[in-house]
Amino acid sequence: MLRRASNALIFAAILAIFTAPVRADDRIEIFDAHLHYNWEPKPFYSLDQVLALFREHRVTGIVATSRPNDGTRALVAAKPEGLWVVPFIRPYRVRADIQSWFSDPVIFDLVQEEFKRGYYRGIGEFHISGRAAAGDWVKRTVDFAVVNDLFLHAHADAEAVEILMGHNPKARIVWAHTGFSLETERVAAILTKYPQVFGELSYRGGIVDGGGKLTAEWRGLFTRFPDRFLLGSDTWINERWASYGEIMAGYRAWLAQLPKEVAEKIANGNAKRLFGR
Ligand SMILES: [Zn+2]
Repeated sequence: MLRRASNALIFAAILAIFTAPVRADDRIEIFDAHLHYNWEPKPFYSLDQVLALFREHRVTGIVATSRPNDGTRALVAAKPEGLWVVPFIRPYRVRADIQSWFSDPVIFDLVQEEFKRGYYRGIGEFHISGRAAAGDWVKRTVDFAVVNDLFLHAHADAEAVEILMGHNPKARIVWAHTGFSLETERVAAILTKYPQVFGELSYRGGIVDGGGKLTAEWRGLFTRFPDRFLLGSDTWINERWASYGEIMAGYRAWLAQLPKEVAEKIANGNAKRLFGR
C-alpha cells in the first residue's frame, strides 16, 4: 500500500515537471546583421542545425549572405518559423572574388541577375579599401543599390566609406566591423556626417576592457548614437560557427551594462527599423 502510494507521488511529480509552464526566455533577443552561410559546396552546419543554433541562442533575425548565394537561397526557402531572414546578395562566387569584384563586370552581372529573385534587401558583404572604391563598377553597384532600395554591406576603411557615400549620397551602408580599431572620434565623425551609415560591430575592438567592462568611449558612442549600431557574428570561417554561442554571450555581456532601451536598439530594434517594411 505504502509502495503504491509512493509510486503515485513519483508519478505526480513527473507529471508536474512535464506540464509546468515553460519559463520565459529573458535573454535579450538578437538580430545577427553579419552572417555568412557559406555553401562551398556544402555548409558547415546543415540547415536544420543552423536553425537550431539560432533558436538556442535566441537569434530571431539575420542578414543572410552566402558565398556563393546558394546558402542564402536555402535560408529564404526554408521560411523558418521564428526567424526573420533578410537576404543580401553576395557579390562573390569564390573566395578569390574578394580581391577583384570591384573591377569585374561579371560580378555586376551576377548582382543584377541575383536581384531578379525579388526578395533581396542589400548587396554585400563586400570588401573594399581606399581608392579602390572610386572605380566605375563600384559606383554602378552603389547606384544600383540606391535605385533598387538596397543596403550596402561594406567591409571598408574610412576612406572607402567616404568614397562610397560620394558616389551617391542616398546610399545606405551597413558598415561591417565599424572600422575595426579606428578611433572612436573618427567613427563619431562618420556617423555624424552620414546619417545613413550604420555600424555593425563584429570584430570591433575597444568596446570592452580586459575585464569585460564596457569602455567609457564606447558607452559614450552607444548613448550618443543609439540608433546607429547593429550586432553580427561574421561566420566567415567554420570556427565562427563553432563559437557562435560565445559570440552572442559576449554581446549580451556588454549589452547588459547599457540602459535597457539602448541595449534593445542595438540588439534588435535598429535592425527591425532598418529592414522592416
Ligand atoms: Zn563578413
